[in-house]
Amino acid sequence: MGAAEMETLSSVLTSPAALSSGGWRERFEERFRELCGSRHALTVTSGTVALEIAVHLLDLRPGDEVVVTPQTYQATVQPLLGHDVTVRFCDVEPDSLNMDPDKLAPLLTDRTRAVILVHYGGWPAEMDRIVKLAHEVDALVVEDCAHSLGGAVDGRRPGALGDIGCFSFHSSKNITTLGEGGMITFDRDDWATRVDRIRSNEVDGEYYPVPAAGVPAELRWMKYAQSAYGIGCSRVRRAGTNATLSEAACAVGLVQLDRLTEMADRRRHITNRLNEVISRYPGVRAQHPRDGIRHAHHLYTFFAGDRVRRARILAELDRRGIELQLRYFPLHLTPEWRALGHGDGECPVAERLWFTEHINLPCQPVLTDAQIDHLVWALDVTLAGTAV
Ligand SMILES: *Cc1c(COP(=O)(O)O)cnc(C)c1O
Repeated sequence: MGAAEMETLSSVLTSPAALSSGGWRERFEERFRELCGSRHALTVTSGTVALEIAVHLLDLRPGDEVVVTPQTYQATVQPLLGHDVTVRFCDVEPDSLNMDPDKLAPLLTDRTRAVILVHYGGWPAEMDRIVKLAHEVDALVVEDCAHSLGGAVDGRRPGALGDIGCFSFHSSKNITTLGEGGMITFDRDDWATRVDRIRSNEVDGEYYPVPAAGVPAELRWMKYAQSAYGIGCSRVRRAGTNATLSEAACAVGLVQLDRLTEMADRRRHITNRLNEVISRYPGVRAQHPRDGIRHAHHLYTFFAGDRVRRARILAELDRRGIELQLRYFPLHLTPEWRALGHGDGECPVAERLWFTEHINLPCQPVLTDAQIDHLVWALDVTLAGTAV
């Protein structure tokens, strides 16, 4: 957070306007719609809540199937644990770690209702192929965009490439709305009405007008009288909740959006420096997106040639003070999904890379020049010391 965020925050906090559901939220959502190119963008309290609502919109029924990626944070697929559906984990590409369209095709059936994927680390997935395959069987595509703000594919932005986009503004992400926050994006107007009701503590139901029991004349001036009188409900899809972002959070989000390019440039600078080191050593490989892909550089990922060397690299980087957080343990191997019959061998590429090669290094824009120099030095001496 910098001076611009502090200034905006202080103007919000000292303004007489209410701190909930006001003009800052509208402006933040409007800017986000323009940025993504989606017709609707609605703030919610976290990326996890965005994904829960996205899964709710899929209207899943017992016997339905959903194809997901195993190489993501647990929140991408966790909402499915609450539904009586068959989940199929689709293996990933060995460089991007994104869902592999070649592996997706054989998993789709006429019972597939949805494909849920992540743009791993900020590298946008091969959406043209994936969306085409999914739509051929009438399945919807949910994009987990928690990493991909600032990324693009051939000029188009994640969040408007599939049917529903889910963003996180947690403090670890490419922008943050005071530590927690999220956004859900899509084009459908009926979904916008439903999501707005859900996040505003109203029921997501199917309603019809009841003319005989209209609003009493003496209450017609009340805007909200309409919601109790003159309306019948034929079906409740789910209860509403309170999941909207505060004015302070949205105001800071707007300022952070202004700074997105600056922060993305810093992430790219760190990535380029690390890639340059990797390129000088045989047996390790960096990520190299094709032309037309703009990587959002949320995570820096590279691959050590084998298990033994990876173990040595991790130990030496740790000894040199580099923070290591490997993201993510393949989800189909976690206890919850094993309990549902998933297990070893289901996604061989994701498993091999995770257990033998995968390494993430820090690349946050908050790193100082001295910290970046230290990181680059530590990687260089480590790779030299572990060369094969
Ligand atoms: C952070 C993250 C989420 C969850 O977002 P929160 O805002 O922390 O709830 C979901 N998916 C991925 C891939 C994430 O990295």
